[in-house]
Amino acid sequence: MHQGNRTDIARLGEFGLIEHLTKNIQLKNPETLYGIGDDAAVLHFGEKQTLVTTDLLMEGVHFDLVYTPLRHLGYKAAMVNFSDIYAMNGKPKQITVSIALSKRFCIEDMEEFYNGLQLACEHHNVDIVGGDTTASLTGLAISITCIGEADKSEVVYRNGAKDTDLICVTGDLGAAYMGLQLMEREKAVFQGDNQAQPDFAGKEYILERILKPEARKDIIELFRTKGIKPTAMIDISDGLSSDLLHICKQSGVGCSIYEERLPIDYQTAVMAEEFHLNLSTCALNGGEDYELLFTIPLSLHEEVSTWEGIRVIGHITKPERGCMLVCRDGAEIELKAQGWIALSE
Ligand code: ADP
Ligand code: MG
Repeated sequence: MHQGNRTDIARLGEFGLIEHLTKNIQLKNPETLYGIGDDAAVLHFGEKQTLVTTDLLMEGVHFDLVYTPLRHLGYKAAMVNFSDIYAMNGKPKQITVSIALSKRFCIEDMEEFYNGLQLACEHHNVDIVGGDTTASLTGLAISITCIGEADKSEVVYRNGAKDTDLICVTGDLGAAYMGLQLMEREKAVFQGDNQAQPDFAGKEYILERILKPEARKDIIELFRTKGIKPTAMIDISDGLSSDLLHICKQSGVGCSIYEERLPIDYQTAVMAEEFHLNLSTCALNGGEDYELLFTIPLSLHEEVSTWEGIRVIGHITKPERGCMLVCRDGAEIELKAQGWIALSE
């Protein structure tokens, strides 16, 4: 929450707050004909197909304001939506932002949230074209809807993976999960002792991965430059296992991935050791990585192995082979979706 000067939202009222938060929003895309200010925004995509995705984030369920600065929350709330559009091989163009606020929040808090939101939109060339603002009796709720576009021939679904296709993953996995564990630990220490200072030295990367994820626009651009279209794609939000199982189920195929091929950063490994967690389990089930998981034809093997930051982790098989993880010792175990299921608690 904002430190220092805190101005009561009641000073501005609902309309005043909307005006205050949105007055410096400038439209960047020709597809956005009209943004904030009327009953609805007006968009025009010509011949392109329109992609729509939405996310709802609840305080206490999806984020904890004890260790999540509102600026980062705004950034991340936008980024997770962009990631869904990239996962369709599309370009995000507009978002609407709906927020429900309790009395705890002041104008400066919401300014910080919007600063983060706008920064993410700058980086990805996205217009904020509307939203809704209302009161909440409990915590903060944020719902962002993102609209994107793609040529009909470019859209990549989860259901196109074929037997023998290569399974590829961008970046590295498990770091966001380790960042979350670290913040939870430091929060517990902090709450037990007001004098304690969190110790984050040397842990910057894993913290950044949880607080400031980056949607992989660069990968979509790479596909375009190389003239390559994946056969199936998904963004890794629930964890590699769970998201790969979505591709396999929807494509009606099986898969084999190799434990030794999982891309893992050094800081993630150090942290997993400190927490006595199995590193591969963190990479497989951690979640919130916002990397892209995609499949491409086997014939592109040589080509893809020259792409920096993309790792081939296995291949698609016939459905009767099941979805398998080949361990370092050669043993095969069935992949399980252990992704975080919000409703199971
Ligand atoms: P309505 O009563 O028709 O829903 P509002 O007064 O809620 O209109 O909103 C006025 C304008 O401000 C609309 O264009 C709406 O999309 C936009 N808006 C409202 N809240 C937000 C917000 N949190 N962020 C961005 N735009 C917003
Ligand atoms: Mg409204």
